[in-house]
Formats: sequence, C-alpha cells, structure tokens
Amino acid sequence: MRLHDKICLITGAGSGIGQSAALLFAAEGACVIVNDLDESKGEATVEAIQADGGTALFVHADVTRPDEVSAMTERAVARFGRIDVLFNNAGISGVGTLHEIEPDVWDRIMEINIKGVYLPSKYVLPHMMERGQGSIINMSSCVAEIGLARRASYAATKGAVLALTKSMQVDYAPYGIRVNALLPGTILTPFVEDYLRNAYDDPEAGLASIRKRQLSEQLGRPEDVAQAALFLASDDSRFMMGSPLYIDGGAVFG
Ligand code: NAD
Repeated sequence: MRLHDKICLITGAGSGIGQSAALLFAAEGACVIVNDLDESKGEATVEAIQADGGTALFVHADVTRPDEVSAMTERAVARFGRIDVLFNNAGISGVGTLHEIEPDVWDRIMEINIKGVYLPSKYVLPHMMERGQGSIINMSSCVAEIGLARRASYAATKGAVLALTKSMQVDYAPYGIRVNALLPGTILTPFVEDYLRNAYDDPEAGLASIRKRQLSEQLGRPEDVAQAALFLASDDSRFMMGSPLYIDGGAVFG
C-alpha cells in the first residue's frame, strides 16, 4: 500500500482524472477527501470508493471561493486530523483565439485554473507547515510548453500553474513540503469530449488530428495520469521537488 493511512484531498474528483486518482489513492490505502463543484458526481466517487472498502468523504466547494475552500479544509482536518497530500486537479477547458474570447470567459478560466490552485494551497499549507511534511500536486498540462491552435487562454493558465509550482517549491521546501506538477497530453475524459465538440465541426476528425500529434498516436487514459499522481503523492518521489512530470504520449515532441 503506497499511501497507507495518508490523508489526501483531491479537487475536482467527481470526474475524469480526479476521479481516477481518488479511486487509485483509496485502493492504495489513503483516506480521500473528494472535492467537486458537482455534488452528485463527487458523491458517486465516494460511493465507488466505499463499495471497494475504502474511506472517503465528499466535501462540496467551489475552488474559486475562499470561504468555501477554507471551510472544506477545516472540515477535512477536523475529520481526519491532518492533510498529507493536496492534489490541485480541478480545471476547465477553453477554446478560442484572443480576439474571439469574451472577457468573462477569460476571467472564469483564469479563476478556476489558477486561483483554484492558489486557494486550496493557501488553506492547506499552514497545516502541512505545522507538521513539517506534505506533498502538493498541481495540475498543469503539456500545453504549458507547446503552442496549440485556439488554446491561448487555457495554455496561459497551465503555464502559470507550472511557474507557480516552482516558486511554491522554493518557498515551502524549508517546511519539508514537496510541490510538483503534472503535464498530461490529451486524456480521454468528459473535459476532452466537451473540447472536441466546441473546437471542431467534425469531432471525429479532431480526435484523429490530436492522435497524430502525440508520438504514441493514442490518447491517454485517466488512469495513466492517476498513476503519475500516485507516484508524486507517495514517498517514492521523495527526491522530486518542483518538477514537471509529463504523461503525454510524447505530445511535446509532436
Ligand atoms: P473533467 O471535466 O473530467 O473533471 C474536472 C472536474 O472538476 C469536474 O468534475 C468538475 O465538476 C470539477 N470542477 C470544475 N470547476 C470546479 C470548481 N470551480 N470547483 C471544484 N470543482 C470543479 O476534467 P479532466 O479531464 O479530468 O481534467 C482534470 C484536470 O486535468 C484539469 O485541470 C485539466 O485542465 C487537466 N488536464 C486535462 C487534460 C485532458 O486531456 N483531459 C490534459 C491536461 C490537463
């Protein structure tokens, strides 16, 4: 059991990668605090974990709301006594060139994808600092490193998360806290299904062009990213600090 007795908070764990990580972390012995904006999806993740004999608690919170994120953290600490791992996973997609994107759409993606990493970190860090240990995993993307058509707003948020990760690591290394980033390629989740519908007149042709872009010529599965998150959450990655970890089927070389 690679996460035996670890207390792990995963944001956006009602779907896709976050859900897959929640199931895997629980199977590896963790108590998982499942966060999501969508209550029914979050509760479904908890039910799946409990059906497998694992321990999980759903806590509703919008990761852009300080009051809700603070209350979520306090509830988790009151229930489990500490938080060992924070996986800042919640995020949304964005499609469009800059002259097409409306300001309110720009603001929302910045809020969820960047502030949604800052706020859970802000409230969880003091608990980790007090104990002198912890692992934070921030969800970036390979688009932080490559130019992709009509993904400017999304790429800007994921580049920001990567920069944030490195500076966070420097600030919190003295407290025994590790902060690393995941950079997935295209992973087949509801998020990508939405993206395909919005970005392409013919989603099947869109899917084929994305496949070609990855050296593997395949899309990733949520489990591929969950395994990488498990590594960063566990002590197996004790010597990784402020690192970008690619799980992209070679997309950065495509
Ligand atoms: P998903 O849409 O399947 O899941 C995201 C979850 O986050 C949803 O359950 C949603 O309800 C939740 N969420 C959204 N806004 C929230 C908020 N304000 N507060 C709390 N929860 C909120 O998406 P996914 O594909 O699993 O993506 C998860 C993360 O991985 C995102 O940050 C995404 O940018 C990143 N990512 C995904 C891919 C991919 O190809 N799927 C690639 C690179 C990075």
